[in-house]
Amino acid sequence: MSTPVKTYPSLSRSVPIFSHSIFTHLLTQDGELIGGHAPELPAFTDAPSGTTINRRQLRDFSLALGHGLKNLGAKRGDTVLVFSPNSLNYPVILLGAISAGLRCTLANNAYTSHELVHQYTDSGAHFVFSTEDGIPTVRAMFKEIGVGEEGEKRIIVLSNSLAWAGGPDVASTPESTGLPRMEDLLSGGSLEEEEKFNGDLAHETAFLCYSSTTHQNLTSVVDIVNESYPHEIGGSMLGFLPFYHIYGSVMLLFLNIKMGDPCYIMPRFDPVQFCNNIQKYKIPVVLVVPPVLVFLSRHPVVQKFDFSSLKLLISGAAPLGPDLTKQVTDRFRSMDVDVAVVQGFGMTESSPTTHLLPMADAAMKPGSIGVLLSNLEARLVDEGVDAEEGKPGELWIKGPTIMKGYLNNEAATRHTITEDGWFKTGDVAIRDKDGHFFIVDRVKELIKYKGFQVPPAELESVLLGHPEVADAAVIGVFDHQEATELPRAYVVHAQPHKVTTEELKLAFGQEVAKSIESKVARHKFLRGGVVVIDAVPKSAAGKILRRELRERAKVELANG
Ligand code: AMP
Repeated sequence: MSTPVKTYPSLSRSVPIFSHSIFTHLLTQDGELIGGHAPELPAFTDAPSGTTINRRQLRDFSLALGHGLKNLGAKRGDTVLVFSPNSLNYPVILLGAISAGLRCTLANNAYTSHELVHQYTDSGAHFVFSTEDGIPTVRAMFKEIGVGEEGEKRIIVLSNSLAWAGGPDVASTPESTGLPRMEDLLSGGSLEEEEKFNGDLAHETAFLCYSSTTHQNLTSVVDIVNESYPHEIGGSMLGFLPFYHIYGSVMLLFLNIKMGDPCYIMPRFDPVQFCNNIQKYKIPVVLVVPPVLVFLSRHPVVQKFDFSSLKLLISGAAPLGPDLTKQVTDRFRSMDVDVAVVQGFGMTESSPTTHLLPMADAAMKPGSIGVLLSNLEARLVDEGVDAEEGKPGELWIKGPTIMKGYLNNEAATRHTITEDGWFKTGDVAIRDKDGHFFIVDRVKELIKYKGFQVPPAELESVLLGHPEVADAAVIGVFDHQEATELPRAYVVHAQPHKVTTEELKLAFGQEVAKSIESKVARHKFLRGGVVVIDAVPKSAAGKILRRELRERAKVELANG
């Protein structure tokens, strides 16, 4: 007899699901309007300089860039890699590439050339948009791939200036001399209209964030989040979360176009500029990650600014507990500012947001990721069986925002998406009687440092490249002070007789931690420490027993 399936449908009103491209969805002319909002409304502002483009300019620049890319030889279905910090260039690159029918793969701008090689080759990218600062890394990547000369033709340089948008002119660096520039691509004409992805073509890939995110995933997610958004507070957002992560690109570049509100773009998180921009641009909503809430709850500089515009902080990408939520609301209350702190939940594979805590429930349900958003269904599955109501189970999600699969990895796709379309999140949740979900554990092998993904297997393979490391395992340990997990490694020395004392083990651990710093981006550094052990605990099948290591780490850290 088969086990009964316990499905939780969304309690929110359903939205219509469209079958066209994300460009068409957001920017197609509708009478005098663009995507339902007046073309003169500001779309994006470069927060440091105040340089602004409106919705009409966003569409015009995008179609011009699409034309420029086609002129360079890009064909529908080709992929462009974006290697850049947040800037006003970003929305134009994404929508420009999409207008030409191209797919975008977004790389962390802190990546080393080695990390970039993987993303470039895996995604089959054709062109790389890079800032001037990134060019040495991109060149090193092309050299590693073995296409040094040929690679030169594939780089499109993003000026630090935003001259194309009327921003201040800044001299370019000698490294970029002779390479095509974004300005050149913008000045050679324009596509008459965007490439269409109507009907079944809406299931073609638009984003490659390791998972294949389709046009329809993107159009659905902006409409689904828009449906639950508290529009009454106004939607201007501060965009400092990295756009290369789908949390940033969907919520700060696409959602606000849909809503008709501007996003004020910051190149990175800077504590003083963060506060200053909220004050200067009278921002009502900020999307954050838990470590930013730690800053807001404690840092003395916060008290020097006027936060009276701020109504809502939405935290995502990593767990946020009730204590930190309360510390932030209490701090703002002491400054006479009434701010709701809510949490959202999602993952790259669900494009990303699946849950959001309604603002009205903020005080009642601290620590909850909120309710399931429109058009989605959830299950909580414990050892293959749906858990009883109120009991924990792995969160499974079904709906139009679930990716179509992992690129070039059918086995992983089959492992995470069931034949009838349920996506297994790898996170364990409970659902209370009011329909609010709480994340209580994670069963997949993922560490999140300040919201950034750190895949343990990747660090383990880098560690195994060290000539004196015979075996390695990486786990996450939680740092309550900083409200984040930290990657911690356990390593076995290839010649154990060389590390017999605590001092020698400590010194070797420090050397190993240092040795990876030239090979991986900063967020993957082993901030949780490196411990030398005799053997990595493994199951009979050779699987690392991470739970055992996590227990061991708890004891070690408690004992200092
Ligand atoms: P990413 O694909 O980088 O967005 O990572 C997704 C993963 O981040 C999820 O599967 C969770 O493990 C974790 N995550 C995201 N949001 C939250 C949250 N609000 N609480 C707990 N974990 C979260």
